[in-house]
Amino acid sequence: MIEFKNVSKHFGQTQVLHNIDLKITQGEVVVIIGPSGSGKSTLLRCINKLEEITAGELIVDGLKVNDPKVDERLIRQEAGMVFQQFHLFPHMTALENVAFGPIRVRGAGKEEAQKLAKELLAKVGLSERAHHYPSELSGGQQQRVAIARALAVKPKLMLFDEPTSALDPELRHEVLTVMKDLAEEGMTMVIVTHEVGFAEKVASRLIFIDKGRVAEDGPPAELIAHPPSDRLREFLQHVS
Ligand code: ADP
Ligand code: MG
Repeated sequence: MIEFKNVSKHFGQTQVLHNIDLKITQGEVVVIIGPSGSGKSTLLRCINKLEEITAGELIVDGLKVNDPKVDERLIRQEAGMVFQQFHLFPHMTALENVAFGPIRVRGAGKEEAQKLAKELLAKVGLSERAHHYPSELSGGQQQRVAIARALAVKPKLMLFDEPTSALDPELRHEVLTVMKDLAEEGMTMVIVTHEVGFAEKVASRLIFIDKGRVAEDGPPAELIAHPPSDRLREFLQHVS
């Protein structure tokens, strides 16, 4: 589903990703952890072309992301993204936020889009909030709307960049539950998070990024119980 072949990323003179080789197959739930500034967001953003790689090759569901001819709208449709700051449209209700993508991106009719939006809001437990504006919703509810909105264009994979970091601890659970349900349905997911417990319970694979390199890659429970390197051990002590 996703293949990094010797991928590097520079911002000007600064190299932030170093020769990444990484294969993620359909249905995998991959959690990425690592220190602040290690390149986690950049790695994620390269997958849906919010950032351009500067060397190597990156293939997402058969599309060569670094090919200038490839349509980035197509890639964004394949790879839905959820951000730390929910980025909902403030002047639209929850329902309108979710229906927006299908109408704009897929050219769906209004009725069809609203029907789908209602189904997705039900899926994330927000049927009762369909006609509320983002400012009338809690952070956890807003993030669940953001997940429903990303799902509305029927992506083949979902990218999450610290989806619970902006939330109060007591609201994180409701977002993680929705993500766990998605994982159980077989969605391919790449999740940057500090929620090590979630990684242990839900992820099929844990990747530790350090200074722009894949430093560890393996089964979450094993890596967490027996960190193979001092760097990972120190990092885990820091976040838990
Ligand atoms: P993380 O998500 O792991 O905290 P990032 O991927 O956001 O790390 O950042 C990796 C490095 O790239 C950092 O040193 C950051 O300052 C730098 N960086 C990120 N985005 C940009 C940008 N748009 N321009 C220049 N430098 C950037
Ligand atoms: Mg980040």
